[in-house]
Amino acid sequence: MPADLHIHTTASDSTLSPQEVVSCAIKAGLKTIAITDHDTVAGIDEATRAAREVGLEVIPGVELSSRINKNEAHFLGYYINHQDPALKEHLKRFKDARQKRGFLITEKLNSIGVEIDYEEVLRLSQGGAVGRPHVARALLEAGKVFSIKEAFDKYIGYGGPAHVEKIRLTPMQAIKIIKEAGGIPVFAHPYYVKADDLIPELIKDGLAGIEVYHPDHNAKVTKHYKKLAIKYGLLITGGSDAHGSVKEGVTIGQITISDEIVTKLRKVQDNS
Ligand code: AMP
Ligand code: ZN
Ligand code: FE
Ligand code: FE
Repeated sequence: MPADLHIHTTASDSTLSPQEVVSCAIKAGLKTIAITDHDTVAGIDEATRAAREVGLEVIPGVELSSRINKNEAHFLGYYINHQDPALKEHLKRFKDARQKRGFLITEKLNSIGVEIDYEEVLRLSQGGAVGRPHVARALLEAGKVFSIKEAFDKYIGYGGPAHVEKIRLTPMQAIKIIKEAGGIPVFAHPYYVKADDLIPELIKDGLAGIEVYHPDHNAKVTKHYKKLAIKYGLLITGGSDAHGSVKEGVTIGQITISDEIVTKLRKVQDNS
């Protein structure tokens, strides 16, 4: 039975709770999932508890953002020790910064006459890591945009009038944080970044895998990254990157990988 190794929950910017994620995974016939929220591990325990009851395996994970020039490079950390004190410190710093950023984005929107209430953004984030999708949903609810996409395109996307940067980590720093918490660093959806030349450098820093299978990777892109993974001896991973209704048309189990790949990932974990 297959695995989906890239899933968000309400702990970050998905609309599905960890429990709902588990239900969806079971409905999709999955055997293994990874919870990979942005800058938080708060969804892992609830998902693991719910999964235990139904015989689903949950790989603890996280997704950290870094920047390469104008592009964001995301790194997934699999089998991360989500209790690690140093990791918790880092994540607290990122979470606090995300709250401040959410407030700044709201201020920028209000200053250009697009009024939303920061309290609403906070309410939608349910105490989790505040992300732009929460602002987009607040804009949608307030009738300021017709879709999440429009919110990004018009206001909060890169270069938009209400865009605000996140904490700026380098890829090396993101990889280091993952490694120090016992995680396996994997380059998420590398097609977004188009920084293939950097991969050998990232491997020196500890990069162990590439997310080859992703909804935004077409057949040609998938083939390209599979080839690169083989060339560099990197693990191949994949997942839906499902976010509930934030990413319409992307569902849990939409992208799956084989048990064989999960076994390889587990072996790396066991040997480390
Ligand atoms: P943040 O980490 O707060 O900068 O938010 C980034 C998240 O916003 C991504 O992980 C996606 O879930 C979502 N996102 C980015 N661009 C778009 C878009 N054009 N439409 C919908 N969601 C988006
Ligand atoms: Zn997201
Ligand atoms: Fe991502
Ligand atoms: Fe993601």
